[in-house]
Formats: sequence, structure tokens, C-alpha cells
Amino acid sequence: MSGFQTATGAGPEMSVDLLVIGAGPTGLYGAYYAGFRGLSVAVADALPEVGGQITSLYPEKFIYDVAGFPAVRGQDLVDRLAEQAGRWNPAYLLGHGVTRLDDAGEGIVATTDAGARISAGAVLVCGGIGNFVPRELPVGSEYLDRGLRYFLPRLAELAGQDVVVVGGGDSALDWALSLEPIASSVTLVHRRTRFRAHERTVEQVHASSVRVLTPYEVEKISGDGSVSEVVVARSGSDRISLPAQCVVAALGFIADLGPMEQWGLQLRRRRILVDRTMRTNRQRVFAAGDIADHDGKVSLISIGFGEAALAVNHIAALLDPARSLTPGHSSDA
Ligand SMILES: Cc1cc2nc3c(=O)[nH]c(=O)nc-3n(C[C@H](O)[C@H](O)[C@H](O)COP(=O)(O)OP(=O)(O)OC[C@H]3O[C@@H](n4cnc5c(N)ncnc54)[C@H](O)[C@@H]3O)c2cc1C
Repeated sequence: MSGFQTATGAGPEMSVDLLVIGAGPTGLYGAYYAGFRGLSVAVADALPEVGGQITSLYPEKFIYDVAGFPAVRGQDLVDRLAEQAGRWNPAYLLGHGVTRLDDAGEGIVATTDAGARISAGAVLVCGGIGNFVPRELPVGSEYLDRGLRYFLPRLAELAGQDVVVVGGGDSALDWALSLEPIASSVTLVHRRTRFRAHERTVEQVHASSVRVLTPYEVEKISGDGSVSEVVVARSGSDRISLPAQCVVAALGFIADLGPMEQWGLQLRRRRILVDRTMRTNRQRVFAAGDIADHDGKVSLISIGFGEAALAVNHIAALLDPARSLTPGHSSDA
């Protein structure tokens, strides 16, 4: 990633025009945009890597609804965003969860759990869904990382394996389709008859070689040391034994806003309420991306990009009223 700088464990003091909290797609684009508007920027993320949900949850999946990319692998999009932001050399504080935001005169002082203090003229919160932990499969926890997985960072690791994917949402069906060409077999198990995924994805699954078992639940996972068999049951009586070396549980995530809940920000639907300029109820604190809520909100990468640009333009004008709200065209730069 060109231009990528990391200030991991950075000293306790740093002063910037804008602190971006969260290095997911929204925060990375916000960092680019702030540099474009002439602001100095620090980007803090609790995780050790940039990319937010994309890097953590689906780096190898293809994304089809980002403008300008008919299809882009998740990690490739993150790499391009980091490269774009890197043009302005933002200071990255990775492994720094922001715990406090305190008003300080003409700015805000943020404190991280790794001991950094960042003074900023404004803060853009791009905290996504906060900390996320996978919803656990009720059985088989002893096989975690020995065949039972909740994340699939590298699909190739499952090449040639018999895989059971559990779940009925987009993630489960997308994983089943992604694994179909490389796994020895893929069985999709869902406890209801109807899937919650996009209709087109459901059609693709039915047209593929993925074996679909509904309404079945995983009753037991067994194996000597690692997974070798999965028993699924319907109505407690009808049982099927599936040979499997891997179970991918895609049952969703439990999100926890963590410290963001304590920052005195007005919340709605467990998100930060913003106005049309992405401003929160706190002076100098803005929010964008999945964490932000406003009437008509839709949580998508493309929406986060627009919200980040909108927020940064308003922040630029707030920090220096001589700056115009409209940025001019980057193509003129
Ligand atoms: C399986 C899956 C598939 C998806 N597919 C698509 C798709 O095809 N198209 C699409 O548009 N969207 C898709 N999405 C949704 C998309 O990933 C999100 O909309 C997007 O990631 C939101 O970006 P964000 O930067 O706002 O938040 P996130 O990506 O959630 O990033 C937020 C970051 O903030 C950090 N953070 C949180 N709190 C703190 C704190 N206190 N201090 C420091 N850091 C903090 C987190 O660690 C995280 O890295 C998908 C999501 C999933 C789970």
C-alpha cells in the first residue's frame, strides 16, 4: 500500500486538524477527502489493520455495488482506499481504540486505550457497527479453529474440503457460492425454509451444486481432534450425517458500540444521530458511514463514501470559515 504510514503505539501527544475514528472504508475515504481539503489528519482504529468490516469479515468476497468497479475483491478495495488516502500521509494509529472525547477550548482531545492523546479541531466518527463478535453456533464450540469457523479470511484454505455452511442470510449464501468451485462439497444448512438473502443469490444457490438442507439445524459436531462429521436434524427426528472437515457458521454478528456509547452523542437505533451536514449533537463531532443515522439511512459502502465527503467539506468550512464549503473539482488540482 503506497503512502501507508502507521503510528502504532505512537507517542502520547499528537495534534491534527481532524481525527477520524475508524479505518473502515468510510474512515479511509474521509482521510483522503480531508487531505484533499488541506487538513492534517490522524486515523485511529481499535483493530491492527485498516479496512473495518471488509478486512475483518470478507476480504476475499467480491463487491459489486461500488461505483466504478463492476466487481472488486474486498481487500483490493481497501488497498486502493488506503493508497488514495496515503497521498496525504495521514497518521495511522492502529490498535488504538478511542475511549474518551473531551472538549478542550477550540477543539477536542481524544484518548486511546493504548495511551495516545490526540488534539483535533474536529472529529469524524466512522466507527461502523463498533466492536463485532459473531453469533455463536449453539453446539460444537470445542471445535473452534479446529474446523469450526466464523470468519473466512482466505477461501483457498478450504480447497478440497467438505464444507457445511450454516445460516440463511446473504453471508451464508455468498460463502456457499464462493466455496462451491474450490471445496470438495458444500452443504448449506438453514433452520427455516425461507432464506433472508437476496432473491438472486438464492436462485444462484439453487442452480449450483450446493446441497441445500432446510429446515435443518446443526445438532452435533464430532471428530477426533478436528471436525469430521456434522449431524443435522429436522423436527428433532429426521437426522442426516454429513462428512465434513469444516463448518462455517454465518449466523450474523452481535455489535457493541463500546466506548462510543459514553461520548454524550445522541443515539437512535444504536447509531449516532446526525443532521444533513453529518453533524452530531456535540460541537465539532461529526459521524459518517454505518455508525451514522438520519432519516432515510441505508448502510452501504457507497453511502459511507458520500457521507464522509459531505462531513469533511462541512468540517473544512467549520475549521476555517474562509474555506468554501464546496471543494472545487479534484480534476482541477
Ligand atoms: C459479509 C458482509 C458483506 C457485505 N457486503 C457489502 C456489499 O456488497 N456492498 C456494500 O455496500 N456493503 C456491504 N457490506 C456492508 C459494508 O461492509 C459496511 O457498510 C461498511 O464496512 C461500513 O463501513 P464503515 O467504515 O462505516 O464501518 P466499518 O467497516 O464497520 O469500520 C468501522 C471501524 O471503526 C473501528 N472502531 C469502532 N469503534 C472504535 C473506537 N472506539 N476506536 C477506534 N476504532 C473504532 C472498528 O474497529 C472498524 O475498523 C457487507 C457487510 C458484511 C458484514
